[in-house]
Amino acid sequence: MKYINNELYWGKVKIADIAASVGTPFYLYNYDVIKRRFKSIEKAFKNVKHILCYALKANSNFILLNEIARWGYGAEVVSGGELFIALKAGFSPEKIVFSGAGKTEDEIFAGVENRILLFNIESLEEILLINKIAKKSGKIQNILIRVNPDIDTATHPYITTGSKGSKFGVEWKKAVKIFEKANSLSNIKIVGIHIHLGSQILNKEPFINCSRFINRFIKSIESAGIKFRYINIGGGLGIDYENDSYFSDNKESEREKSISPKQWADAFISNNKWGDRIFITEPGRFVMAEGGMIITKILYKKKSFDKNFYIIDAAMNDFIRPSLYNAHHNIKPLKKGSKKQIKVDVVGPICESGDFMAKNRTLSVLKKGELLAILSAGAYGMSLASNYNSRLRLPEVIIKNGRAALIRSRENKNELLNNQLEEKIWLDLKKKTAFQQIIKKIEFSKFSASGNDFIIIDNRENILKGINKKRLSKIICNRNKSIGADGVILISKKDEKHLVTFYNPDGSIAECCGNGLRAAAAYLNKYKILGSEQTIESADGSHEIKIRSKIPKIRINILKESFKEQILNIDNNKIKGYIVTSGVPHFVIFVNDINDPQLMNTAKKIRYNKTFAPKGTNVNFVKKETSGKITVRTYERGVEAETQSCGTGAVASAYISRKIFKTKFPVNVITKGGKLTVSRENGKNFLFGEVKEIYCGIFNLQGIYY
Ligand code: PLP
Repeated sequence: MKYINNELYWGKVKIADIAASVGTPFYLYNYDVIKRRFKSIEKAFKNVKHILCYALKANSNFILLNEIARWGYGAEVVSGGELFIALKAGFSPEKIVFSGAGKTEDEIFAGVENRILLFNIESLEEILLINKIAKKSGKIQNILIRVNPDIDTATHPYITTGSKGSKFGVEWKKAVKIFEKANSLSNIKIVGIHIHLGSQILNKEPFINCSRFINRFIKSIESAGIKFRYINIGGGLGIDYENDSYFSDNKESEREKSISPKQWADAFISNNKWGDRIFITEPGRFVMAEGGMIITKILYKKKSFDKNFYIIDAAMNDFIRPSLYNAHHNIKPLKKGSKKQIKVDVVGPICESGDFMAKNRTLSVLKKGELLAILSAGAYGMSLASNYNSRLRLPEVIIKNGRAALIRSRENKNELLNNQLEEKIWLDLKKKTAFQQIIKKIEFSKFSASGNDFIIIDNRENILKGINKKRLSKIICNRNKSIGADGVILISKKDEKHLVTFYNPDGSIAECCGNGLRAAAAYLNKYKILGSEQTIESADGSHEIKIRSKIPKIRINILKESFKEQILNIDNNKIKGYIVTSGVPHFVIFVNDINDPQLMNTAKKIRYNKTFAPKGTNVNFVKKETSGKITVRTYERGVEAETQSCGTGAVASAYISRKIFKTKFPVNVITKGGKLTVSRENGKNFLFGEVKEIYCGIFNLQGIYY
């Protein structure tokens, strides 16, 4: 970072140019600085086996996480949210460690199910709970026990964690007993020790003391027969926030106050023999802080009593470290200011006197509208940001290869209303279970297949957890009050197979739906979830699917033993038809007048005829046209009316036509909604016809689901 012609550059990029492009305030990162700092830790531990698990809490920008995962590092997470983001960003579960003094059952379950490397656990009660959850999941879970060795770190009291009075870890004196107890549990494997002394530690003594402690501790534990494979020394390596030396060049500079990664590593490695044990480190601040800054504008200048103020457009909600820890951050003008200097308070617009970035700081005399860089803000900056004063959270930009890229957009005003309800939702206090979900924005696609329209929702991540899906489908399909559709299709995943569930407009589930399968196949292919040759499971079994020129051809399973001629007595008329199950039950009747207005009344009676109890049947009226062509009208269960088109009905009708009238395959089936084709290949029945996506959108569901 340097001034060229009085303008501040980071790498080859003039920072003021980025400000002109994205507006202020914003976070700015530098790829090279961040990568170099990761490498420096990797290098410092190169003589031992080592997994670097980046502490997500320092900065969890998704694109940065993508990069870090791609560099091959692991992740340290402290919540279900961080675990979710880490997995999404591509961190391998075998390199994820989960810490935190108050993990919930759901969080532990998520960690166990995702087969993360290990949990850093903090109490005996937590061990017992993990054991129980692992047992339920049929897994043996690796854990490290976090020990509080009572070592003083001389850091800020809010971020000291390894000394007396801290809520973290188990007291060292009681630790041996807890290790022994944990060792006796069936679904837990203790694989080592975790110690995180605190954050922003600037000298090596605490780490040397910690190393000695671990050495002693291991001896006493291993004599009790517990083998240590991992030694997790946490994070905590500090940076010199006041030192400007990194400002002048790109090399890892000598610090005045802080220790280097090598000194940190040596505090543990140099005097001890660790054998083939694996070190885990969890750095956050050290790898991120200096790779980030905030760019902000002076909105106003004023003098009040004897104090000078620069009032800037960034505030404590954007960057809370100065207010929370009284933290020092160097501040540089983007345009080198006049030589004349003054003492100023650099403050934000928030209605709190605690909203400041610097107090009594000597800065050059600047004008309203000039830009400032608040340095070393890459760690615990954006990740601690909030919407206090209903301010919008900042965008993030990264400099990489001499260019600048936006990696998070500025929040917009609508997003402030994200979880706000439009009207109150009364709680049912008689229910003794907690509700699962209040409000959801659900992404969906609407596909049309021969006049049937389906709402398709990707539920592979179980985004509908806790929501009553029958009720949801009923709401979605309602054409007067909601999106409106002939059915809802949920895509889920089980044992690596893609499962589709079909919901009718009345909320009932159909075992299969021909047009729905075609729509689901087109959706899965369009969104690159499956290829053009695929198999989809539905309640009636597997369906082979081949997609050619965007037209899915799907196999419909016919239950051969289901075929039966049947005469029904409806209103004293004898009606002959054929029973067949093509995924769902169908009754097929041949008629001469396919436009007879009474057909659907008759169908309704057949649908509920006791022959088909308890589930009922779909009813198809079929008219033979020329050879290889039939016209079909279908009364559909679940819709409880005539449908535009029914895929399984088309297959059932073609199948019966072939059996009874030797109709030639492929058969063109004319329905109200369009033309379908039923073919036979190697004794299997296939259905195909046009499918198209009509639109995709977000459905806003308000309500509470118990
Ligand atoms: N590991 C644990 C368990 C922590 O609590 C923290 C920070 O609080 C870290 C790692 C990261 O610390 P630092 O950012 O100081 O490296």
